[in-house]
Amino acid sequence: MKIAKITSFEVLDSRGRPTLCTKVILEDGSVGTAFVPSGASTGKLEAHELRDKDNSRYQGLGTIQAASNAESVLKSLIDISPEDQQAIDERLIELDGTKNKSKLGANAILSISLACSRAAANSLNTPLYEYLNIVYRNISGHKSSMSIPVPMLNIMNGGCHANNDVDIQEFMIIPSNKYLFKEGLMKSVEVYMNLKKHLSDKGHSISVGDEGGFAPNLGSSEEVLKTIITSIEEIGLVYLDDISIALDCAASELYQDNSYHLAGEGKKLSSDQMVEYITELSKKYEIKSIEDPFDEGDWDSWKKFTKLNENLQVVGDDIFVTQEEILKKGIDENAANSILVKLNQVGTLSETMRTISLAKENNFGTVISHRSGETEDTFISDLAVAVDAKQIKTGAPARSDRTAKYNRLLIIEDELYP
Ligand code: PGA
Ligand code: ZN
Repeated sequence: MKIAKITSFEVLDSRGRPTLCTKVILEDGSVGTAFVPSGASTGKLEAHELRDKDNSRYQGLGTIQAASNAESVLKSLIDISPEDQQAIDERLIELDGTKNKSKLGANAILSISLACSRAAANSLNTPLYEYLNIVYRNISGHKSSMSIPVPMLNIMNGGCHANNDVDIQEFMIIPSNKYLFKEGLMKSVEVYMNLKKHLSDKGHSISVGDEGGFAPNLGSSEEVLKTIITSIEEIGLVYLDDISIALDCAASELYQDNSYHLAGEGKKLSSDQMVEYITELSKKYEIKSIEDPFDEGDWDSWKKFTKLNENLQVVGDDIFVTQEEILKKGIDENAANSILVKLNQVGTLSETMRTISLAKENNFGTVISHRSGETEDTFISDLAVAVDAKQIKTGAPARSDRTAKYNRLLIIEDELYP
């Protein structure tokens, strides 16, 4: 089997910005389509997202060049079986030839990599998650089983995903793993519904941020945490037993001139003070998981914090950017104990799976993640199941770009456990 045709063009993401839709068509007529997501609070070492910078279109954000690059690789992939995901990805990396995929663009490369795996799954008449499980077993050498991940639902937004006065970017709820996925999702949705009512009754804004979470001006992170806990308890659920809380501080966005600027709280903290502040906040509210509590370059704080908070899930996003090499350093230096996994931070499926495999071999948690700029593509749901990731974060249970992922997991759950 060979790839017969590649087409790539601009579509819109959830922020209304252009992104790529790429179709890989095989000789037997099977088609694989993939859409590329896009971040706002990006890590410096992420693979390069190629934008046209032509200010006469989409304020410079066009992706015509990336689409054209995606189509141009067809002739170089013609001798590789689309079922050989590693060979496809290696060829793409080789063709690009740069460290951060800036020549072809990581968006162009990722769209081919994902569309190719979908086309291969379709050609074999296999559900995507099952096909990805086979690819993952080949890449990792692990006898990996499949499971439905626990969702981390971002229900209150701040930072650069909203224009309110809250410093922390994401306040997420996590249903207890005693629940089936569909039950945990239902409880979480009920909390989200009650939170909306609660905010509205108090006269707060119920408009939402980029990932579908509410974004009122509550002024302080503690106020947000108290509001969420009230919304949980008001409907008869038990905080921690039924629903816990996770945070993504996205602290690289707060870090300037060696200090953390918490504008909403009116605080400017040194690294040590930030370690203290986040430690106290997580202890006081019994936070279960905390992502990017420090700047991506502030490794000393990461190490201190992880050591001080052994029972907390400490998740590295901007610091590891899904790159195997950086994760290796993080593992060696005990800079966290979990990794956030975003396909477009590294740019190919195989590299993403290698990073996941390295994490698992070292007892690092793996959280598969959406981006703040998303599309209707639900690839990450299948990926999370395929690699037995345990956790997925894909926004609020609102807005189709977010609910599509949860709905896909409901479909997979029904297929695997009817
Ligand atoms: P991003 O946000 O997609 O804007 O990077 C998500 C995150 O920080 O986890
Ligand atoms: Zn993050």
